[in-house]
Amino acid sequence: MSLRIGQGIDRHRLVEGRPLILGGVRIASQRGLLGHSDADALTHAICDALLGALALGDLGQRFPDTDEAHRGRDSQEFLAEIVQEVRERGFEPVNLDCTVMAEAPRLAPHLAAMRARLAQTLAVSADRISIKATRGEGLGPEGRGEGMTAYAVVLVESVEGKGQ
Ligand code: MG
Repeated sequence: MSLRIGQGIDRHRLVEGRPLILGGVRIASQRGLLGHSDADALTHAICDALLGALALGDLGQRFPDTDEAHRGRDSQEFLAEIVQEVRERGFEPVNLDCTVMAEAPRLAPHLAAMRARLAQTLAVSADRISIKATRGEGLGPEGRGEGMTAYAVVLVESVEGKGQ
């Protein structure tokens, strides 16, 4: 069996007049993340972690924010496409551990829904997906409420006889 690990980090600015979408879940909030797609920083970090595990570049190369075709796109579509490629290359996600750093709103009540949504997109069981939320304690851009940052680490294993 061959194991590979990947990490991803993504940060987006919080602004008025945008929906807040994290892990594919829309969360009631005065402000949302600014970005070309739906700006789902958590899903973007997971995409980068999967791409990183197989040394396939990054999300920005694959879905450039200069391409109008990606404006407003649901980031679950990016993730579904990437995990499909991971499988085509003979690997299967083992587990995923994520942290979202955000001052407000409180994310704890939404973590179960995010895990369920991501489990559906990745076609893995939700018990393989960990999402933690932490606050910036008033420090840095997250602590000041200027934005949110998501971190993801993923382990993938080769499916027998396929991956290298
Ligand atoms: Mg992003």
